Amino acid sequence: MIEWTRRRFFLATAIGACAAGGRRLFGKTPARDVPPPDSALQNVATKARPIIISSANGVAHLDDGMAVLKSGGDTLDAALAVVTKVEDDPEDDSVGYGGLPNEEGVVELDASVMHGPTRRAGAVASVHNIKNPSLVAKAVMNKTNHVFIVGEGARRFAVDEGFQEMNLLTDRSRLAWLAWKATSSENWRPGLDSPEWKEKIAELLDTPERQAWAAHIEQVVAYPPTGTINCLAVNAKGEISGTTTTSGLAWKIPGRVGDSPVIGAGLFVDGDVGGGGSTGRGEENIKISGGHTIVEMMRQGKSPKDACLEALDRVVRNYAIDKSRLKKFHITFYALNKDGEHGSASLWAKGLDGKPHHYAVHDGVKAQLVECAGYFDAVGGDY
Ligand code: ASP
Repeated sequence: MIEWTRRRFFLATAIGACAAGGRRLFGKTPARDVPPPDSALQNVATKARPIIISSANGVAHLDDGMAVLKSGGDTLDAALAVVTKVEDDPEDDSVGYGGLPNEEGVVELDASVMHGPTRRAGAVASVHNIKNPSLVAKAVMNKTNHVFIVGEGARRFAVDEGFQEMNLLTDRSRLAWLAWKATSSENWRPGLDSPEWKEKIAELLDTPERQAWAAHIEQVVAYPPTGTINCLAVNAKGEISGTTTTSGLAWKIPGRVGDSPVIGAGLFVDGDVGGGGSTGRGEENIKISGGHTIVEMMRQGKSPKDACLEALDRVVRNYAIDKSRLKKFHITFYALNKDGEHGSASLWAKGLDGKPHHYAVHDGVKAQLVECAGYFDAVGGDY
C-alpha cells in the first residue's frame, strides 16, 4: 500500500511537472526566446467535409479536386487533380512545365504524395523531362517497394511506367535563365564592341512579345524565386491525403533538393490526424521537419493555424529571431485536419508587393482565397 501511494505520488508529481514544463519537454524553446506572432487570427478554420486546400496558385483548379471528392473518388486523386493542372500550366513558373530551371538551364522537378487511408507515401526528386512528377511519385508509391527515387533513376522509372518525355523549358523560362546568366557573367551578353550591346537586361529581349516579359524576368533574376503547390484533401468520411510538387529554387545547383519531396518536411499526412505541407524556402523547412511538426501539433490538440505557427516558431528559433536574416526568405505552412478544419501561416504577413499571403480553400460550395496568418506582421521574404 505504501509502495502504491509512493508511486502514485511520484506519478502525480511527474505529471504536474510535465504539464508545467511541457513546452520544454517537447524540445521547444522557452516562450521568452520566441515572440508571439504579431498578427491575430486571420484565417478562420471551418469544420466541414469534404474540404480541399492548397497554396494560392491552386485556386483555379480546386473545383476539379472537389468534383473527385464529391463523386466518391480517392482523396489523393482529388489532390492530384488540382496539382497536375498547375504542373501542366506553362504560365506557372514554379511547378512542372515552364518551371524555372537550375543553373544549367535544366528544369528539375520534385514531388511527394501521401495516402492517408492506406498510410503510404511516394516521392521523386531531381527529375528531368517529365512534366507531372506528382504522378510519378504516386507510381513510386503504387508500383514499387520504395518510397523515394531520385535523378536519372526517377526519370527512367517514369519512362518505364509510360510517362512521356518532353522539354520542360518554355521560351519565357529559357529567356529568364539566359537573363540570369547575363547578370551573373558578362560573358553571357553581347560584348561592349558589339552593335547588340545593351546595358539593361530588358533591352536584350528582342521582340515585343518578349519585352512584355521583361518585368517578370527582371524580378526572378533579382530575387530567385521558390514556388510550389501543396494540396491537401479530406473527404466526407474523414479520409485525407496530400501532395506537394515543385520545380524548386530557380537557378539552383543541379541536384539541389528542397523540402517538397521530403516526407515529413514539404508534406506529411497521418490518416488519424490530418496533413501539413509547405511552400517557400525548403532548406528552412527541412531543418524543422515542418509537415511532421504540424501533424504532431494537431495530434496534441492545436488548431491547424496554430500548428503552422508552431512550425514557424521553430524556423524563427533557428535564427535566434534575427529579423535581418529571416526577412531574406519566405515560407508558408498549410494544415488540414481530418475533421475538415484548416489553417495556414506565413513567416511574413505580407510579400514584397506589400500584399498579404493567401491560401486556397474549397469548402464544397466554392473555391476562394483566404488570408494566411502572419508570424511577423510585416513585409518580408526577398526570395
Ligand atoms: N519549397 C520549395 C523548395 O524549396 C520551393 C517553394 O515552395 O517555393 O524547393
